[in-house]
Amino acid sequence: MTMSNPWFLAALFAVLGVFHVELISLLLNMARLGRALPTSIADLYPEETRQKLRDYLAEGARVTVAQDAAGLALLAGLWWSGGFGAIQAWAEQHTSGPIASGLLVAACVGLAQMLVSLPFEAWDTFGVEARHGFNRMSWGVFVADKVKSLLLLACLGLPVLGLLIAFFEHQRFAALWAWLFIATFSLLMTFLAPRLIMPLFLKFTPLPDGPLRQAVLDLAQRLEFPVGEVSVVDGSRRSSKANAFFAGFGRTRRIALSDTLLEKHPSEELLAVLAHEIGHNKLRHVGKHLALGLVELALMMGLLGWMLNESAFFAAFGVAGTPTGMGLVLFGILYRPVGLLTGMAGLAMSRRHEFQADAYAAQAVGGAAPLQQALRKLGVDHLSHPQPHPLAIWLHHSHPPLVERLAALEQAK
Ligand SMILES: [Zn+2]
Repeated sequence: MTMSNPWFLAALFAVLGVFHVELISLLLNMARLGRALPTSIADLYPEETRQKLRDYLAEGARVTVAQDAAGLALLAGLWWSGGFGAIQAWAEQHTSGPIASGLLVAACVGLAQMLVSLPFEAWDTFGVEARHGFNRMSWGVFVADKVKSLLLLACLGLPVLGLLIAFFEHQRFAALWAWLFIATFSLLMTFLAPRLIMPLFLKFTPLPDGPLRQAVLDLAQRLEFPVGEVSVVDGSRRSSKANAFFAGFGRTRRIALSDTLLEKHPSEELLAVLAHEIGHNKLRHVGKHLALGLVELALMMGLLGWMLNESAFFAAFGVAGTPTGMGLVLFGILYRPVGLLTGMAGLAMSRRHEFQADAYAAQAVGGAAPLQQALRKLGVDHLSHPQPHPLAIWLHHSHPPLVERLAALEQAK
């Protein structure tokens, strides 16, 4: 592990670079809270709300910085103490074969990362979100969610990881096989997750018969969108923040509206939000995201296939030889800045899709006003940053800022 190893320098740059870019974006974002608001949303934020917003965003920012710093400390600790090499040696002693030892290594490092971030997630949920009246999650639900996620990760993640290790250990054209396998797996999960995984965390109940259900079905029929079920999902068990989404593909789709959305919006706004979601589907936005994901996956597998054969890459982290499982873990560290860039491409695409779905919805319900009203309410209810900094938007925002969406809808009128 010397400064003359280019992999060492690249990893150092990757880790510190990403940490600082995130920090700078957060500070720039906070600095913009003092700006005067544009007229389209000024009435939404009286002085009292602005104070609440500043407190909420500042507290959230503190949690984020502390969590990032703790993650960095864990990584630095493992790196400089020779922890990666020690874990590898220990795993090899207690297992036989590269697959078993690789899985043990990945499980150890993954568990350590999870344990380090857990207190910050609890702080965010039961500190920040609770103090601002958003959290409705009990400790029971929080713990149950974590346990279920961990079990899912063990049941689905470990076999996938095991196969990946097997590919890169034994196959020629391993990167290609790995790409094919993960691509198939993710496509399958896109179809299965809404049916198999979401119900583990959320409860779906049919929307009762009545004028709203009829209006939803009428809208779907008018837009030629085949609906299997119209459900209400118990989002309120976790947060008071409202949302709507779709689940399911193929011939019958499930429309799911959160109970919190139903609580806060009159039916014309609900229908406008729903038309926006149907717009995503009609404009084939999910497929476009999947396609972009597959391109990124090809890049990842190509890089992985190259790095796993470079012993200097492993040496940069104090690991002897080229153990594949450990290589996958270390790759995750070096990939961070690349992931940030590909993530930005995905987010840019997503923001463009939001504008398109908004325009579709305005057309579908015969006017922009209901959606504008719904968006204004959602923005202030969630205490979203009214004027995020461009860097923060590029790095994290899947949706354009409220002001831009309102302005685009105004144009569509
Ligand atoms: Zn959308």
